[in-house]
Amino acid sequence: MAGYSLFCVACGQTYADDGLRLRCDASHEPALLRTRYAQTRLTTDPQASGLARYAAWLPLRHALRPMPAYSVTFRSDGLARALGLRDLWIAFSGHWPERGAFAPTATFKDVEAAAITARFASEQRIMVTASAGNTAAALALACSDAHVPVRIVTPRRAYDRLPLTRELAPHVQFIVLDGEATYDDAIELARTLAHEAPFVFEGGVWNVARRDGIGTIFLRAVEAMSTMPDVYVQGIGSGAGAIAAFEAASRLLGDGRFGAKFPELLLVQNAPMSPVVDAWTRGSAQLLAASSSEQRTAAAGVAAPVLATSGPPYAVRGGLFDVLTATSGRTLAVDNAKAQSAMELFAESEGIDVEAAAGVALAGLQSDILTGTIDPDARVLLHVTGGGRLRLPGERRLAPTIAATLAASDLPATPDVLASLREKLLQHAQAA
Ligand SMILES: [Zn+2]
Repeated sequence: MAGYSLFCVACGQTYADDGLRLRCDASHEPALLRTRYAQTRLTTDPQASGLARYAAWLPLRHALRPMPAYSVTFRSDGLARALGLRDLWIAFSGHWPERGAFAPTATFKDVEAAAITARFASEQRIMVTASAGNTAAALALACSDAHVPVRIVTPRRAYDRLPLTRELAPHVQFIVLDGEATYDDAIELARTLAHEAPFVFEGGVWNVARRDGIGTIFLRAVEAMSTMPDVYVQGIGSGAGAIAAFEAASRLLGDGRFGAKFPELLLVQNAPMSPVVDAWTRGSAQLLAASSSEQRTAAAGVAAPVLATSGPPYAVRGGLFDVLTATSGRTLAVDNAKAQSAMELFAESEGIDVEAAAGVALAGLQSDILTGTIDPDARVLLHVTGGGRLRLPGERRLAPTIAATLAASDLPATPDVLASLREKLLQHAQAA
């Protein structure tokens, strides 16, 4: 089903996809790979719901398993009136059965996870990733359902609070970091662990499946609107969602039926953790230097911890700087109080709860309206993720399989520690 190839945005080198590749082999500055599909017109499968509707523009190595839609787009009435916008559309990623959205973790992480598992070449391979919260739960559930063996590295306190609603299959296992280990420690360990087969790193924003998966949310929205929006608004942490929306818009420009110009991107961060806003507003093509203690303090002070990414892909070729440049985009930072009141406004005007990340996006839009930056007649697409959690079945106290634990004092892991960890994981894999 390979109707696509990969190409490097820096040097143009193309690759047949092996389901695992994350980077170009040539020696040049860091650069994302992108997919190029044989099908240049948007072709949807009208019988299919959710991701499968856009299979022609997904890097699939396996057929997608049947799944409901995780994201829906509708034209807003209540919120549009409250904001004074005449053409506001909401792309809602979450759990809202009345509108046809059934994301298992009530976030867009479920869309990413489903696409990642459908690209992964799992023959004799074990996926390794570092994650916490909804991202970990979404990937764990998707890998469990798609029979993808995975090892998720996570700090102990994140493991203890995994937002799971059902049991996981035994091929989904965790590597738990005890003590003062941070999320950055978890990423570092996952990366180095995956240097040797059969382990392979999932890749985060570098994984084309993750970005094209999220891109389907933008495709769904454009299908609903019959055209591209003038303005696209999203809260960002890593910015993978914004890069994905840009890439999907690029494909739609190639199609030609949905407009001839990029939507203007408005990317919103939660102050004080706003590295992208800080760099972009200073016209810098690089993130500004910040010490890890400054980053930790900023990350601890935000209402939307899911947006507190310390090293987003800003300067890499094809990353946020390039995307903002290509779309004449803008960035804004909003504080916790504004995000909180935006969450309340959304709940009152649309009748469903949303999380702080969605509040951040809406607060950015409100700020642009107040300053007159957005035309009240503009067609605006607001992407909110993390909605309807209160309607989900209750989370359960589950204890997913722990394949290994490591003390913070063992990090960064020496070659000896890594070797014994790999051996332990392989024994555990055979037993499972
Ligand atoms: Zn290259």
